[in-house]
Amino acid sequence: MIPYGRQDITENDIDAVAAVLRSDFLTQGPAVPRFEKTVAAHVGVKHAVAVNSATSALHIACLAMDLGPGDWLWTSPVTFVASANCGLYCGAQVDFVDIDPQSYNLSPMALEAKLEKAEKEGRLPKVVVAVHLCGQSCDMAAIHRLSKRFGFRIIEDASHAIGGKYEGSFIGDCRYSDVTVFSFHPVKIVTTAEGGTALTNDDALARKMELLRSHGITRDAAEMTHAPHGPWYYQQTMLGFNYRMTDIQAALGASQLMRLDQYVARRHEIAARYNVALAGLSLTLPWQHTESYSAYHLYIVRLQCAHRQREVFEELRAKEILVNLHYVPVHTQPYYQKMGFQLGDFPEAEKYYSEAISLPMYPTLTDSQQDSVIAALRMALNQ
Ligand SMILES: *Cc1c(COP(=O)(O)O)cnc(C)c1O
Repeated sequence: MIPYGRQDITENDIDAVAAVLRSDFLTQGPAVPRFEKTVAAHVGVKHAVAVNSATSALHIACLAMDLGPGDWLWTSPVTFVASANCGLYCGAQVDFVDIDPQSYNLSPMALEAKLEKAEKEGRLPKVVVAVHLCGQSCDMAAIHRLSKRFGFRIIEDASHAIGGKYEGSFIGDCRYSDVTVFSFHPVKIVTTAEGGTALTNDDALARKMELLRSHGITRDAAEMTHAPHGPWYYQQTMLGFNYRMTDIQAALGASQLMRLDQYVARRHEIAARYNVALAGLSLTLPWQHTESYSAYHLYIVRLQCAHRQREVFEELRAKEILVNLHYVPVHTQPYYQKMGFQLGDFPEAEKYYSEAISLPMYPTLTDSQQDSVIAALRMALNQ
């Protein structure tokens, strides 16, 4: 069986986790702040707020920006549902911007056109979630320019993209955004089993996200409405959640991070091998922007013979090559259709969905495993 993605766990990872299990703190100990500092230093951002999932990170990022009823959040339809659901959690309304047919990321041109229309109608978005599909950054410079012109805030959903670069610096430095989110789910680039982080250069947003992660409770006298009753005293100043990452998870994450650059380099080797072996087949291979160094979470091909998508998919699955499809466009989900979205609303996203297949891509995929994927795909395409 060859999955489309999987984690790599080493003896060092296991030792790091075991050390926490033998220590005084399983959660709220020193491993979480240590992990946060390591992530922040690696990507070059001021603050990292570690949480129990990227979904939680998206939620507290939206809340920290005061997204609420009456507001709009826009994102790409070609993403995991969490990139949109975070808006609904806050009581805001969600809308989508169609994808760029080359990068499959949110199209800045479609965004600009939609913003111009929304401005006239008085329904501009408060937040735009830019999703770096496969680990390749969106055109952040363009999206950032539009944010200045139309006054929205930007969250980068970089769940696929830790270790990737844009314009030569690491994704996550928040140069063009208010907050960037990473996921540490096992299929992603590095893992904490479940886990995520919200990154920002904004001190106020960081502090608000820290509070929201842990019930909205503060132990800092400066943040209280009156002097503490005593050393035991704490105050709840907003409605937060228990979205904390455990020390066990943070230790695993810190150990994994030491191999991040190596992992991404290996993903590039695998992509380069696919690029050579699949050139000339009736497939569209991943296009890469010159300013982009993808983290290559996914390697997605598009079938030129779209009517054979299901057949090719099933043929590979029958050979225990567990290809996947990222993603069912969010606006076509029944829950979103009930809100009024319809088939045909985002034609580029729908066309992409009718042609795409994610091939196996993870650092421990061997050359011979990859060769069997390539051979099976050639056979399925009769080429
Ligand atoms: C995986 C993923 C998420 C959610 O991550 P979790 O850590 O599982 O909550 C959100 N957005 C995208 C684009 C993802 O791929």
